[in-house]
Amino acid sequence: MTAPLDVLVVGAGPTGLALATQLRAYDTLFRIVDRSLDRARESRAPAIQPRTLEMLAAFGVTDELVDRGNAAVRLRLHFPGRVLHVPVFDVGCDDTPYPFLLFLPQSETEAVLTAGLAARDVTVERGTELVSADPEGGYVTCRLRHGEGGEETVRARYVVGCDGAHSTVRDEAGIAFEGRAYPQTFLLADLEVDGLETGAAHTFMTASGLLFFFPLGTPATWRLIAMHPQRARSDEVTLDLLQQIADDWTTDRLTLRDPVWMTSFRIHNRGATHYRKGPFFLAGDAAHIHSPAGGQGMNTGIQDALNLGWKLAHVCRGAAPEELLETYEAERAPVGRRVRRLTDRAFTVGTSSHPALRLARTRLAPRFAPLFLRATGPRARLFRTVSELGIHYRRGPVSTTGPTRPGRGPQAGDRLPDVPRGLQQRTAGPGYDLLLTGSWPEIPPLHHLVGVRRLGTESPWPGPTHALVRPDGYVGYVARGTDLTGLRTYLDRWLPSPET
Ligand SMILES: Cc1cc2nc3c(=O)[nH]c(=O)nc-3n(C[C@H](O)[C@H](O)[C@H](O)COP(=O)(O)OP(=O)(O)OC[C@H]3O[C@@H](n4cnc5c(N)ncnc54)[C@H](O)[C@@H]3O)c2cc1C
Repeated sequence: MTAPLDVLVVGAGPTGLALATQLRAYDTLFRIVDRSLDRARESRAPAIQPRTLEMLAAFGVTDELVDRGNAAVRLRLHFPGRVLHVPVFDVGCDDTPYPFLLFLPQSETEAVLTAGLAARDVTVERGTELVSADPEGGYVTCRLRHGEGGEETVRARYVVGCDGAHSTVRDEAGIAFEGRAYPQTFLLADLEVDGLETGAAHTFMTASGLLFFFPLGTPATWRLIAMHPQRARSDEVTLDLLQQIADDWTTDRLTLRDPVWMTSFRIHNRGATHYRKGPFFLAGDAAHIHSPAGGQGMNTGIQDALNLGWKLAHVCRGAAPEELLETYEAERAPVGRRVRRLTDRAFTVGTSSHPALRLARTRLAPRFAPLFLRATGPRARLFRTVSELGIHYRRGPVSTTGPTRPGRGPQAGDRLPDVPRGLQQRTAGPGYDLLLTGSWPEIPPLHHLVGVRRLGTESPWPGPTHALVRPDGYVGYVARGTDLTGLRTYLDRWLPSPET
């Protein structure tokens, strides 16, 4: 048997690929396997949120994603007899280099991440399925079945299930996946549409249900998603059925043609009862699935991965205590629960046949939505939520405020904003960064994994303040003043030993 791995990553969807990208950057000994022979060609998630772009920028893949995607998509909300322009992404965006929703098919996102790994000599081992995983003697013994029929046994200190909604790792770990399926069936097609304003994403809100058109580019110009008309019994998807829906639910004369992919699907809202059990971790769809409303699923999965990867890397290299791994569930499970709650609400309002909600959708929303969209405060809050820039771990176990809290600026657990511009990129990397604002005496070295940076007047905090930024770009510790006693205590706890 070969030498044990630090980490076995099971599944090479966007979550597994993001995790592998981070583990590679931090020199962790790992393998990534996927049972399918080819990466997904169909385009599931069509959009990447600003926070995901920020976090992936640390690994040099964001420029390629932005180059391939469409960052200038306008959002249109169609009500019977009225079309609204939805300017969600034009307020509250001045602290990010990516103030836009990037439209890019999931297949392209996966292609960019796979190419980034290949450039760093990581091969995604396709046609390789995890069939069992037994923890014994400090390692997990994993049986892998290869597409050509052979089997292999590998040992790994940790196994991360990025293996989607039907996760084998979740089953092997004995973690429950609780929730429900919605009664509605949805129809999906990638196709061409004549008569639809290009360069925009369209949502048609009708009394009967919802119809979406997202601009894709490849493998077709448009992605259609529609609620199945309730009376239709068959789940078979035909172009005629989709044309019928477009005719009934829109007042525009739309001609649908040349579908390259048509399918139907049910939507579930489920969550794993734990994100960790012993040496097993769950991330992405293996940990949470919900409605695509708001474009959060893939993005939440990628951010799960980037919360976990550096923690595994630090623990495996002996720099951080095992206890750091407990903070993964403490930080990410509340994020997953919140996404499930918010998408459930949006889904219920958008699809319910209850007379009050139908009235809200078709009569009240067209009247009140323009007022809401004129109010910059609520719109900015909506932007922070949808863009995922507002995710924070303030109540998490790795977030500590020193004796005096700075009067303004990010708190412990908040994301580091990109102020001044380029700060996020300068602090990206496997280590922590200590940011100093105001005037400071010389300070002795603290730890070889902690870089020190002095900020000028354009700092997120008033001086003098010191803030420790984690490898994933969240503030771990912050305090006003130049006394570093609290910071040293924090470092003793979370970075106690020199790496081996
Ligand atoms: C129609 C639709 C629209 C969506 N729109 C959006 C959107 O706008 N925005 C958004 O953020 N999300 C969206 N999503 C959700 C998004 O597609 C998923 O959240 C995302 O694919 C999850 O990524 P993942 O890597 O966690 O899992 P997956 O993409 O499911 O990948 C899991 C991988 O694990 C592999 N695997 C499974 N079992 C094993 C095993 N035993 N051994 C080895 N490999 C295994 C599979 O082959 C697969 O490649 C949408 C989803 C759908 C269906």
